[in-house]
Amino acid sequence: MPPVHIALARKWRPRVFDDLVGQESVARTLSNAIAEGRVAPAYLLTGPRGVGKTSTARMLARALNCDKGPTVTPCGECASCREILERGESLDVHEMDGASNRKIENARELIETVRYAPQRDRFRIAVIDEVHMFTTEAFNALLKTLEEPPPHVRFILASTELHKIPATIVSRCQRFAFRALTVPEITAQLTKVAKAEKIPATPGALRILAEASEGSLRDGLSLLDQAATLSSGQVDEARCAEILALVDRGLLEGLYSAAAAGDRAAAIATLTRLTEAGADPRHVLKEFAALLRRLLLSAAGSPPDAEPAERERLMTLARAMPYENILRAVSLILDAEEQVRRVDDPNLAVQMLVLKIAELPRLRDIEGAIAGLPPSSGSSASQAPPARLETPRAREAGPRIVSLVSVETEPEEPAPQAPPPGGDPVARFHDILDSRRRVTAAQVSLAESVFPRADDLVLRFGIDRAAAKEALEDHAAKRLLAEVAREAFGRPMRIVLKTGPPADGDLGNVARDLPVATISRERASTRAESDPMVKSAMELFRGELTEVKEEE
Ligand SMILES: [Zn+2]
Repeated sequence: MPPVHIALARKWRPRVFDDLVGQESVARTLSNAIAEGRVAPAYLLTGPRGVGKTSTARMLARALNCDKGPTVTPCGECASCREILERGESLDVHEMDGASNRKIENARELIETVRYAPQRDRFRIAVIDEVHMFTTEAFNALLKTLEEPPPHVRFILASTELHKIPATIVSRCQRFAFRALTVPEITAQLTKVAKAEKIPATPGALRILAEASEGSLRDGLSLLDQAATLSSGQVDEARCAEILALVDRGLLEGLYSAAAAGDRAAAIATLTRLTEAGADPRHVLKEFAALLRRLLLSAAGSPPDAEPAERERLMTLARAMPYENILRAVSLILDAEEQVRRVDDPNLAVQMLVLKIAELPRLRDIEGAIAGLPPSSGSSASQAPPARLETPRAREAGPRIVSLVSVETEPEEPAPQAPPPGGDPVARFHDILDSRRRVTAAQVSLAESVFPRADDLVLRFGIDRAAAKEALEDHAAKRLLAEVAREAFGRPMRIVLKTGPPADGDLGNVARDLPVATISRERASTRAESDPMVKSAMELFRGELTEVKEEE
């Protein structure tokens, strides 16, 4: 292992068109167009994730703006080339993630920026990743510029979902369709990388990793990285199978049982334990799907081929859910398998699936009530919680990672109350913390507000204090906070770290000073909300997404 580990996916990011694996026709057409001096005002790169769209956008930007260009072989040494190679952007190349900047004001700001003449290079280039996430208004603003583009402006749009981009936009772009890679193509590239990186790996092992990466070279390289890190010596088939099968059967059944009982919190907690143990969420989904299919067959009276003990086990599990709910769960899984391939955050997609399945016992009760029947009884549904028709979206059993709350949102800060006997627990929290660990207390003192909310102790930081919040997210720090909170409140409290607008409310001012990475991290919740998976889940739950937070 080298002393500083650079992720393989990053290290092996293609830098010249010839390096693009599996996208020969894209590479050829682009190279020819540049060589012949035909430069379109806008390009649209579409295709699945992890196959080279963003890398191509950056190569194209370098090709167009290289000091020696426009050229198919940018020098890599001029200021423009170096800046783009280092950080994906330059003085005149502006990269924006459409998923977290989907609003009209984001689009306007970018368009305003590129409208001015280039400061140094040939073109002002706007790169917009995941452009399909734009709102209609944002698309309209973009369209207006595409209709009459200033001569020095070039747009490079990238998207995994072509069908979500208005035809009016698509028709004004030169489009390049990227394709998912085949298993032999990924295997070949992994073999090349393993050799160059001196990772001892058997051909069989590399093929297993290629199969698991489902068409995405980026995923394949990440898996190779993981395999190399986790194997001290040879990366062989057994080791790879082990890495890919980090799904604990007991936990998987626990996940099913919690969901079957409608216990959202337990289901999400179990899912978190599964993924924390190192299992890829996509793989968890695959295994969960396999389990549910076996349960469906058992419930349908044709148990799968298995040992008698295993059959008995499956029958017992299958009885935890009415047959029609298992059927519904399998159908939800089919949808999720489709979605998980397309989204950037498979974990969130799997969480949503689990929450939907955990909702099934309630739907059944509601159906019964609508039909004028008493809530279902019998062995299968007896484990479901009683119908809560008066408050079917009750929050108290709400999930822990993604909080879906009923439409009537609760106030952010609690109503002022008389301090309980024994003094204000928040003040006590500060005092105890101060006596335990000064550094942590100092970081906490930077919080905008600290207040209890049900069983949570919320610490909210202005986004300009994101660094303090991040420091507290450290495992040891968070455990200390939980211990101190428990002492101060006399009961277990969960520590919730949040960011919000800065004290003076001037987000724009802060945004200029903060690293882009910090802002995009803090905008993760915006991205989650705009995710189609989350949206459809919102419809199912008729809720609002108030926050996305990591389980501690
Ligand atoms: Zn150059």
